[in-house]
Amino acid sequence: MAWLDTSLIKTGWACKCPKCKKGDLYASKFTMNLRNQCPHCGLDYTKSDLADGPAVFLIFILGFALVPIALILDAFYTIPLWGHGILWTSVTLILTLGTLRPLKAYVLALQYKHLPWDQKNKQSNSSPSTGKTDSPKNKDHDI
Ligand SMILES: [Zn+2]
Repeated sequence: MAWLDTSLIKTGWACKCPKCKKGDLYASKFTMNLRNQCPHCGLDYTKSDLADGPAVFLIFILGFALVPIALILDAFYTIPLWGHGILWTSVTLILTLGTLRPLKAYVLALQYKHLPWDQKNKQSNSSPSTGKTDSPKNKDHDI
């Protein structure tokens, strides 16, 4: 699978910087907030623009994976509706909390690879209607 860059997946899973693959992306192990820059190489993370991309990807991935599994499980075993509610809510929460940070790091690595930081900066800093520049410090990096 030449189209799939496994080094980006490894970098994303480790939540490391897409440039040096050593610095931590997140300020804390329990938050989704990106650091402003890489502590190892100094890559400026404020130039990234992730928006809701990782969350939307996760909604589609988990939705397409879990709904058929729930239907198949229900076809073979008699589980009350409240059992499905508890089971699938728990599974979804665990998978979401476990994979959202690595998926966000993976999307950031994809963005770093395919959209050069400097080019992105030139596009986002100029506003043709007002002529004003947007400060990267004002960007929101939460999902
Ligand atoms: Zn780095």
